[in-house]
Amino acid sequence: MLDLINHVVRISARRDRTEINAAMVDALMDLFAPQKLTIYRCYAGKRKTVIFPCAGYGPQGKFLRNAYLPEQRLCKPLDRDPLLKRSQKELSAVIECHEDGSHRIAFPVLRRDETIYFIDLELSDEFSPDKRIALTGLIEYFGNHITLLDYGETDTLTGLLSRKTFDKHLFELLGQASTDDTASQNPQFARRTLSPNGNHWLAVCDVDHFKQINDNFGHLIGDEVLIMLSQVMRHSFRFDDQLFRFGGEEFVALLQPTSRERALATLERFRSDVEATTFSRVGHVTVSIGFSQLLSNDTPTDVIDRADEALYYAKRSGRNRVENYEQLIADQKLTAREIAKGEVELF
Ligand code: GH3
Ligand code: MG
Ligand code: MG
Repeated sequence: MLDLINHVVRISARRDRTEINAAMVDALMDLFAPQKLTIYRCYAGKRKTVIFPCAGYGPQGKFLRNAYLPEQRLCKPLDRDPLLKRSQKELSAVIECHEDGSHRIAFPVLRRDETIYFIDLELSDEFSPDKRIALTGLIEYFGNHITLLDYGETDTLTGLLSRKTFDKHLFELLGQASTDDTASQNPQFARRTLSPNGNHWLAVCDVDHFKQINDNFGHLIGDEVLIMLSQVMRHSFRFDDQLFRFGGEEFVALLQPTSRERALATLERFRSDVEATTFSRVGHVTVSIGFSQLLSNDTPTDVIDRADEALYYAKRSGRNRVENYEQLIADQKLTAREIAKGEVELF
């Protein structure tokens, strides 16, 4: 009992998903001694659901991965795991008994009716009822803690990530530890640096003539457009691209490593998806997009400023288009400007 409370206190003290997972693995190992344990993050996509094993215990001992950056090579479709699939369908814990007397038990962690995590355990013997209650309680507590965290990290109107979490996500991508992040001191924890397989890209997207939409239809309908737009955005990007609502009608996408051509193709697809959507009462809406490559010594404002310059170019050139900062510089349509490091914009 005291052990359980101690572990709950340790989990509750953390705000970083990777660290919460680490504390949860410690708690589960310590209290229930499973033979195998995996915490999966679960991403529901348009066509298929993908799971990413972000922490656990296996034949090689404990493992811990950055919970904010699902690694493609480790992600797999949920359909390939019938037990987890059943758990998602039934929205409840499911159990599978093995011939040697051991059993596997999988718990879905739910936000509303959507599975956002799975906790998957292999246990050697039957549990006492007390232990079962403790295990279920601990997993419910974990779910509540994650849901609270999500609530603080997402924009209430659209459900996309909020601006205030942007710096943290960018630092994760840049492989830099933010100052309050103790996970970087954990030797099991491998932070990824910028990928050699391509570059990360940051895109800023702004709705064209949004003020007219508000003026003609009212603010509430304007908000409805923003909600629909965020849904189109979710469908147009990959599950591991990170999407933010940055301000009123401005959105930011942080793309996983890829070539400039593929980044452009993704953004073009989003732009044309928006153009093709009928926004209930408003009809057709368009967006302009500017994007730029993420550099390893960038501060958040550096990369945003470059993408913004490309966005303004897109606006000046007729709107409803995608422009790339590096291409505009190469074509001498924009002049590179040296952004002074540490310069503080006061107004
Ligand atoms: P442009 O094509 O140049 O981007 O034109 P625009 O009218 O979209 O540009 P501008 O940035 O001047 O206007 C943005 C408007 O967005 C201003 C404001 O009325 C509206 N807005 C900002 N935040 C919200 C919001 O949360 N909800 C709604 N409905 N409107 C918002
Ligand atoms: Mg704007
Ligand atoms: Mg606008």
